Amino acid sequence: MGRLAFHLLVAAALVAPCAALAEARTVFVATSAEYAAAAVSLRAGDTIVLKNGVWHDFDLNVEGQGTASAPITVRAETPGQVILSGRSALRLGGDYLTVSGLVFRDGASPRDEVIAFRSGKRVANHSRVSQTVIDRFNKPRTHGAENDIWVALFGRDNRFDHNHVEGKITPGVTLAVRIEGEDSRPNRHHIDHNYFGPRPPLGANGGETIRIGTSHNSLSDSLTVVEANVFEGCSGEVEIISVKSGGNVIRGNLFHRSQGTVTLRHGNGNLVEGNLFIGGGEANTGGVRVINADQTVRHNVFVGLKGTGFASAFTMMNGVPNSVLNRYHQVKNADIHHNTFVSVSALLFGGGADAERTLPPIGSRFHDNLIVGAPSVEALSDLSGIEFSGNVAGDRIDLPGFAVGKVRAKFGGLTPPHIEAPAGVGAPRDLKIVRREETGVAWYTKLDPEVKTARRTVQVASDAALAAAVELAQPGDVLTLAPGRYETDILTVRAPLTVRGPATLSGRFVLTGGGDLTLEDVSLTGAAPLIRVDPSDSGHNYRLALTRVTVEGGGPVVTAASGAFLASIDITDSRFAGLSAPVIDLGGDGALTGAYAVETVTVRGSQFTGFDGPASKPVLNIVRGGRDESTFGPRVTLEGNRFARVATPAHLHGATALTLSQNTFDNSGAVILIREAGAPRVLLDGQAVTTSDAARHFDYITQK
Ligand code: CA
Repeated sequence: MGRLAFHLLVAAALVAPCAALAEARTVFVATSAEYAAAAVSLRAGDTIVLKNGVWHDFDLNVEGQGTASAPITVRAETPGQVILSGRSALRLGGDYLTVSGLVFRDGASPRDEVIAFRSGKRVANHSRVSQTVIDRFNKPRTHGAENDIWVALFGRDNRFDHNHVEGKITPGVTLAVRIEGEDSRPNRHHIDHNYFGPRPPLGANGGETIRIGTSHNSLSDSLTVVEANVFEGCSGEVEIISVKSGGNVIRGNLFHRSQGTVTLRHGNGNLVEGNLFIGGGEANTGGVRVINADQTVRHNVFVGLKGTGFASAFTMMNGVPNSVLNRYHQVKNADIHHNTFVSVSALLFGGGADAERTLPPIGSRFHDNLIVGAPSVEALSDLSGIEFSGNVAGDRIDLPGFAVGKVRAKFGGLTPPHIEAPAGVGAPRDLKIVRREETGVAWYTKLDPEVKTARRTVQVASDAALAAAVELAQPGDVLTLAPGRYETDILTVRAPLTVRGPATLSGRFVLTGGGDLTLEDVSLTGAAPLIRVDPSDSGHNYRLALTRVTVEGGGPVVTAASGAFLASIDITDSRFAGLSAPVIDLGGDGALTGAYAVETVTVRGSQFTGFDGPASKPVLNIVRGGRDESTFGPRVTLEGNRFARVATPAHLHGATALTLSQNTFDNSGAVILIREAGAPRVLLDGQAVTTSDAARHFDYITQK
């Protein structure tokens, strides 16, 4: 008798006392072959238990016909102790299927999705995935990983709940509700009590955490409910949730430190209610952006959101006449009421108004909202189609329908603020918001923003010691170099690392995996590029900081391979002279429209001399192509630098923000900014510069 048969017998004996389940089997399996054997004849009420351990390359397919009273179950022996690694995935097809307790990590899906509620052409209905983790299960971030969707809900009446999902850095939405098939709409899915953990900026469109529908089917209803989830650091792009269908409900969720907004992008008759948005000091944190007809936004609380423009705490967009499905339909009959805004940066009406988006909102209401603090309230188009009434603000707001009232708010933690304000205005004071510990699973650690990396100092005094210290680095290590010159081969940085001189380094750095690099008091020589960034699957975007770094001749200094992405490059008090190539050369990825390679570049107190040869390149070359408006970067700040004999200090193509402050340009050319989409935010020595619609190419220079 084989092992499988033995388990069958034992299991049958265990369930025998339960008359209702007399036919049902519980099968315990330890290998994918055993699973496949057990899964061929799944019947209603059957349970397959996966043995604890690591299941490498497990392409798990759950198909069968359960019933409401007797679902088919596949579960971990112990929740959290069954790890699917390598090339693993989960598919469900049939009815009343339940899967729980799995952890996807240390790998990537060999299929389109990690979890699909569809097996071949057979969709899943009335099925549920819960208590499951997907952690950094990224496909290689190169060409080909352009649509790495982690969870796809097909079919109808499915539930995705109490799951923990974090660390996605690949193109493609984290969770997609698919409504393109007749058998998938309306689908009435329930997405609840999940923990959506950090998803850093993608640097392109396709970084949404949830998308419901697509523009093509957006006039159909989905009727999906997204309720009581936590979104923490979900900052992939301008849309945290992209609603592209009708009749959906986004309710009672907590959005914490997440860049972007809940965007009612396409489809009508959606409801956003009773959510709490907390900025927590993070840039570009927004609230809700409204487009289309019959949208309701009520009873929400928005706290400390720093976003402006499309990432404002609240935005009502302008529409496009006779809009095609994938552009902007006019806002009609929007009802925005009883929301509370506390210390937010901006409210925007007529957002996106330009030569194409000419239709202001009509037949809409903005009433009984409460505003604490002094946001910028911007109207970019005619507001006569919005009836403002009964709103109360602590400070005067230059719109009709806002009274000044005595209002106060006290807030802290992840709960709604304590409000003192006239009754009947703003969100309900007893608003119930999901708590973090009610989401995801108890056995998998959620982000701890307080966590500090231990900083270990490693003394280095020889070439071999340097190579070894980089190779064996633990996160947060500080390598202190004895003065002198170091000759090394390629130094591959796989963990956040500081290399501190004063010293001269002849060698090259490559950042990969989870590597970040800080160089201090170092003179760099060696073959170019001195620092190269490779694509990462580590779940975080790279950070590079150069402080008091000197480079003479050669270059480029910083480049990135296709598919690599940096959160930030900071150059401070450094000197670059006579290079024949850019200091930062991030030309963007032509294959991905709107893709770019670095989110923020900050250069302060540095000197650039002699970039003026006949074939001289810009000092900073940063490109984001296309007219996409999905991202917040690249953002570039140049402050207190000196450019001497530099033909092109910067060539910034498609940057979304540029700050130039107290720089000196000596016998040098212009900072070139080429606009692709939207209105880049330009600050010149503290002055905001308004850019006209027509101008696409700006040259900024203070010539001496
Ligand atoms: Ca998007």
